[in-house]
Amino acid sequence: MKRDYQLIYEKLYNHYGPQSWWPAETPFEMMVGSILVQNTNWRNVEKALLKLRPYLDPESIDLLPLEELAQLIRSSGFFNIKAKRIKAFIKWFKEYNFDIDRIKKKDRQELRIELLSINGIGRETADAMLLYAFEKPVFVVDAYARRIFHRIGYDMPVSYDGFQKLVEKELPYDLVIQNEYHALLVEHAKQFCRVKPICKGCPLLSICDQQID
Ligand code: SF4
Repeated sequence: MKRDYQLIYEKLYNHYGPQSWWPAETPFEMMVGSILVQNTNWRNVEKALLKLRPYLDPESIDLLPLEELAQLIRSSGFFNIKAKRIKAFIKWFKEYNFDIDRIKKKDRQELRIELLSINGIGRETADAMLLYAFEKPVFVVDAYARRIFHRIGYDMPVSYDGFQKLVEKELPYDLVIQNEYHALLVEHAKQFCRVKPICKGCPLLSICDQQID
């Protein structure tokens, strides 16, 4: 089947409209949220962010003792591990004096390598940060993108980077498109292409191999 990532984007965008992600008040909150959401759902992250809100700036989290941070983010699960990951991220961020604009000036690939060298920051988290905090156009490969493209009938690479390269080479290098694309795929996976898909009325129905109903 011929792959057409642009067509999928257009169909999703026409159906759901702009998503204006990430759901955070600041880029810093976005980055903390991207660590908290690892292996859990957004509802649990919201509860953790609510408790963390009085400390949601890099200086305050830097000063918070590790154990206290872990207790504040308890609802996100794996809280001891995630507290260590947030502290490791803060240590890296501090090397730039917590200056997001300074980091934004870095080359996308160079910055990605730096993020991946931080303990607990994997490809999906690094790419979410690159896209939503540092404004680098990048396709985020997650379980939802894998599920939707697979069901449509695309034979996608198993490796994260292979999957990403394939999609990116057929899309314009555009921040708005990548920002919306990831958010639209998440929305689509929640509304129609669930674990048990609801294919009736799906905006991708006409191009999908696996209509189940
Ligand atoms: S038609 Fe069904 S399987 Fe295909 S994308 Fe839509 S919900 Fe998913």
